[in-house]
Amino acid sequence: MKRLQQQTALVTGAGRGIGRAIAEHFAREGARVAVADLTLDSVADTVAAIEQAGGTAMSLAMDVTDEAAVSQGVAAIVEKWGRLDIALANAGIQHIGPVHKLAYAEWSKVMRVHLDGAFLVTRAALQQMYEQNSGTMLYMGSVHSLEASPLKAPYVAAKHGMLGLCRAVAKEGAEFGVRSNIICPGFVRTPLVDKQIPEQAKELGISEQDVISKIMLKNTVDGEFTTVDDVSELAVHLAAFPSNALTGQSMVVSHGWHMQ
Ligand code: NAD
Repeated sequence: MKRLQQQTALVTGAGRGIGRAIAEHFAREGARVAVADLTLDSVADTVAAIEQAGGTAMSLAMDVTDEAAVSQGVAAIVEKWGRLDIALANAGIQHIGPVHKLAYAEWSKVMRVHLDGAFLVTRAALQQMYEQNSGTMLYMGSVHSLEASPLKAPYVAAKHGMLGLCRAVAKEGAEFGVRSNIICPGFVRTPLVDKQIPEQAKELGISEQDVISKIMLKNTVDGEFTTVDDVSELAVHLAAFPSNALTGQSMVVSHGWHMQ
């Protein structure tokens, strides 16, 4: 039994990494998936993989910081498929460096992609979901929505902000049948994490192996990375949950790094 039959989903930042895994998993569960990322080229592989597996997908060039691109992207989904049931604000970037040396431009860039991007996707999606009187908003938070690490201040601040947005949407959305939840993964081996391992090693003057074992996985219960499949399984579960009982929640998937 497919869990997202008849559903229509938008996933931002779905050209690679966690977003790609979730887009493919949503499609395997029967959803039609709008695969959005910065360029059409960057989503081509995800869309091809979904279609080769017998699923239905559409490509969207959507920079989540571009107000018009987000509105037009959601309008294109509604024009093609008539509705929008699930929207996942997943696009994200990282910046490694201590607060006192942080350029304002770097701070702003991280905030814009995560927080402004999540707001723009939310606003456009809710306008459709409220008309349908149903829908599920999902946010890709992080363990860093709930606690901090050094050298990641803009990311930590933005991910905490996404938790607040998720909760506000849960309160406002209820009367329109809209649920809102945030997924909080630990470290997952994607390009976002692969890039920061040498950056953290340099900043801290330690080896890359020590960044992995002494920082990233130190507080897990088993020394293991979380996988894209772990995260996509949780996303499907949240998207398919049948009632408003599960709303305004942060769900941590981190091999026990963070326990709430
Ligand atoms: P990734 O770098 O592999 O993928 C991120 C995707 O977002 C890329 O395809 C990129 O093109 C896209 N993107 C970046 N800026 C964008 C913009 N302005 N508009 C649209 N798309 C944009 O990273 P990932 O690890 O798959 O991360 C996905 C999400 O998961 C991010 O929000 C990240 O913060 C979050 N997350 C990742 C981890 C991890 O350990 N990898 C842990 C917790 C949370």
